[in-house]
Amino acid sequence: MMFAVSGDRGTGDPWKFCAGIDTLDSCRTGMLALLADTIDVYTSTIGDGFLGGAVRDLGITGGQYVSTCGILMDSLGWTVQRPGDTLSAIYSHDLLSELRAYPRNRRGFYRICYTGGNPSGWEYVPQERWVRQRAISCEVSTTVWDALWETALPEDLTESGILVNSRDSSRAVGYISELQRALTDRLFVYDIDFYYDVKVGDKLWILIEENRYPVDGETGFRRILAAKYQFAYGGIAEAFPFFHRPEESDSAEIILDHYHRDGASLRTMFLKMPVPFGRVSSGYSDGRMHPVLGYTRAHRGIDYASPLGTEIYAVGDGVITLRGWSGGYGNMVRIRHANGYETGYGHMSNFASGQNVGSFVHQGEIIGYIGSTGLSTGPHVHFEMRRNGSYVNPATEIMPPADPLEGEELERFLAEMSVLEAQWSMLTGTDLPVPQEEPELETDSLESVE
Ligand SMILES: [Zn+2]
Repeated sequence: MMFAVSGDRGTGDPWKFCAGIDTLDSCRTGMLALLADTIDVYTSTIGDGFLGGAVRDLGITGGQYVSTCGILMDSLGWTVQRPGDTLSAIYSHDLLSELRAYPRNRRGFYRICYTGGNPSGWEYVPQERWVRQRAISCEVSTTVWDALWETALPEDLTESGILVNSRDSSRAVGYISELQRALTDRLFVYDIDFYYDVKVGDKLWILIEENRYPVDGETGFRRILAAKYQFAYGGIAEAFPFFHRPEESDSAEIILDHYHRDGASLRTMFLKMPVPFGRVSSGYSDGRMHPVLGYTRAHRGIDYASPLGTEIYAVGDGVITLRGWSGGYGNMVRIRHANGYETGYGHMSNFASGQNVGSFVHQGEIIGYIGSTGLSTGPHVHFEMRRNGSYVNPATEIMPPADPLEGEELERFLAEMSVLEAQWSMLTGTDLPVPQEEPELETDSLESVE
């Protein structure tokens, strides 16, 4: 598969100048004119010596030395020696024309241009990057990880195309980890429980976007563009990409969101709050004065004040793991959700009837009623959330569902989606599965049940 050169400048910092762009352009033009001439390149690595030593090693002395070190230190922040940074000086006819500073751990480099021997400006030059799309399909025979490991690694992950040493192996593990994390923590976090739902025979189709830095000769995972997960027992979860610029955002950045086939947002795992109405009487914090205990204590949850007896909802589908008295929490319900999430609801006056520990509750189902039991100063629900056993702030953890696409955006999404599905099928070499329309419930049968 060929790599397409992308015009995306996203890899490096935006261009920075400390002198006019004209100076640099003339510098570059000068460089081009000089290409046919004699050009000498000297390289100096900043090791145990001082920055100044590395500069001097390149033959830069006198006033040029002072101004060059000035730019490196003041503008680029190279105030301390950092082993691994390298400098490269380009001489044309014995006249210094350009100095390149390659910071270790960066893919681009800084370029200082010289006119008549004096620095005329500098800029950051991001490394050229190519981007491509690749389609993979796999079937789960043990775990999703194994299925991805066996099918998803690009042939040109490393320069040699094979995993030779431990660095190659860790690159491979890193690639699959990022891919799996994108699937489980982003695209399908709210649609598939990768702990309970995954079964042998499930199938997965992913459209991957990859990066390649020509200098390295290595391919890296960039992001998932689209994905389909077909359950062996029926049903398909899908995530389609849509690039757009958020309306309220003043940044020029185009963001990638994923949507269902109908343009509805994927992000719907949790309700924003566990009560139909109410105000936040105490937010999440790691230290506040506790009104009853009278000393500073972390408040790892959010309090919603509502009138006594107001319904409390399960914010997401899950299984009740606790339903009873729990010390300062008073009457409490805890629910275990998919993907390591757990929510807790404290100070209830009463529990909803017909539920027990082990009961499955749906998102929005009533689990209890606002009270003031336990350590509480007034009717409210203490709502907390944990992920993998650690407290998280529900306000930041619960991504508000993105608005469904409408109007022109929806039209553009649907058009792009059908084009993408066709291209994706071609890349995959087979027709991709499409979810069956859910059969409509007959109103007659509903009425007869009532
Ligand atoms: Zn609280």
